[in-house]
Amino acid sequence: MALMGQMMSMPLLISSLIQHAARHSGDTEIVSKRVEGDLHRYNWREAELRSRKLAQAFARLGLQAGERVGTLAWNGYRHLEIYYGSSGSQLVCHTINPRLFPEQIAWIAKDAQDRALCFDLNFLPLVEKLAEHLPQIKHYVLMTDRAHMPAASTLPNLLCYEELLEAEDGRYAWPSFDENTASSICYTSGTTGNPKGAVYSHRSSVLHAYGSALPDAMDCSAKDVILPVVPMFHVNAWGLPYSSAIVGCKLVFPGPHLDGKSLYELFETEKVSFSAGVPTVWLGLLTYVASNKLSFSTFKRTVIGGSACPPAMLKTLMDDYGVEVIHAWGMTELSPLGTLSKLTAKQLALPPEQQRRILEKQGKVIYGIDMAVIDDEGQALPWDGASAGNLVVRGPWVINTYFQQDGSPLVPVQAADGSSMGEWFPTGDVATIDADGFMQITDRSKDVIKSGGEWISSIDLENIAMAHPAVHEAAVIACRHPKWDERPLLVAVKKPGAELTREELLAFYEGRIAKWQIPDDVAFVTELPHTATGKLQKLKLREQFKGYKLPTA
Ligand code: ADP
Repeated sequence: MALMGQMMSMPLLISSLIQHAARHSGDTEIVSKRVEGDLHRYNWREAELRSRKLAQAFARLGLQAGERVGTLAWNGYRHLEIYYGSSGSQLVCHTINPRLFPEQIAWIAKDAQDRALCFDLNFLPLVEKLAEHLPQIKHYVLMTDRAHMPAASTLPNLLCYEELLEAEDGRYAWPSFDENTASSICYTSGTTGNPKGAVYSHRSSVLHAYGSALPDAMDCSAKDVILPVVPMFHVNAWGLPYSSAIVGCKLVFPGPHLDGKSLYELFETEKVSFSAGVPTVWLGLLTYVASNKLSFSTFKRTVIGGSACPPAMLKTLMDDYGVEVIHAWGMTELSPLGTLSKLTAKQLALPPEQQRRILEKQGKVIYGIDMAVIDDEGQALPWDGASAGNLVVRGPWVINTYFQQDGSPLVPVQAADGSSMGEWFPTGDVATIDADGFMQITDRSKDVIKSGGEWISSIDLENIAMAHPAVHEAAVIACRHPKWDERPLLVAVKKPGAELTREELLAFYEGRIAKWQIPDDVAFVTELPHTATGKLQKLKLREQFKGYKLPTA
């Protein structure tokens, strides 16, 4: 008979994170740029007290364990309190992306059966418009104070967030319960079909936060000042509201003010050392910094992920601004972190150019995640940095099933010798893994360009275009071709005032990639379509260029 461990059995609960921050880093600041326009400052101690008051207020409204509290809100202290006040009291925090189409928002809120909806001031007109489609919502909470409440609203019993808190005394003990209880729900952005809900547990969220703070992951510490640019409605801001509580660092929230100028000013005045976001936000910030000949005084490190970080962006941040770029890969179904690219001891001895090429990859897994690349039959492929296959993952913060969906998304995987490796989650990404365990995404399976039986990586072609000094942004999509089936079309946006011809841009590919992979044509546009999370919207772009006739066809 096995001998059982004799350690305290304490469930891993989200409330323990903010309790820890309040007790051990209580006076460390949390600064928020508010929707109202001003700057709000308080600390972890006050955040925890107010989260407890919010839990009391939710209970007073009659919300029951397991019920969902929806949010339509920017990054800010009240949103943080809702994260902790709801999950901590056994409710489920459901962050909704306000940049989605109104119909999608209504669909998601209904699918999740949200009972309450908390929203920022600027979303009032949107929520008023949606209310008739949201019969299951019993409480509308406007995240503001009495002074900013509207004189009249079409919403039934519109509640004021600050008034709810003022009515409570904070004498509330965080309850203890099963760590496998649901803590929050995020929906995938639904690029194909309806969005699907990933239901995180307290256990998965705490483990993810623990792992993501490690030195070879986000490397968070109490010395940091963290500004999550990645929204709290996008996979829980990659777990930063939780991992920052673990390390007890200062947090800075930008609210809706995400333009280059506002971000830069906040980075400087609040002495931000670390940030995280998708490549598109850095495009905006870097354009502002470069055109005003500015530099960063405290900003030292950033995680870039959500879509491939163009090597040119990595180089600019590292070489011109001294900001370390940590390229990361993940997805909603992974809470979201899977891999990050940091050099190992043996790689530190390599020449800088080789190091750079490693940092451009999506990187190594964090302990907790395991990954493999498999062929179409489910057989694992070698880790040789060349064999591209479907990327599969597993681990305690990877989903097992989608919310309210029948059937399992998991697939069986076999080792090279045919033995079973169990069931894994298929990511829909195509990748290689090298002998050192560094994974590189070559494409999303639906974005790969299949030319004459060979695969061309759209990401590789985009990265080359983005390295051209006159290119602001680039996307590569497949176009029908009578002989090759598909051929790449480059759609590019020029930098303001830059001159560039189709021929010059295509010539830029010579010597940078195999000749047969060079795009067949270039279309210049003034803007590329982006998803609600700031990624290139290839589906829309493919529709836009449907029937496009390549000169080679
Ligand atoms: P959605 O799937 O709706 O876009 P997610 O945020 O979950 O929402 O996106 C996850 C996907 O984003 C991954 O499967 C992958 O295709 C892409 N992705 C994330 N990070 C990277 C990265 N660093 N490089 C390339 N692709 C990435």
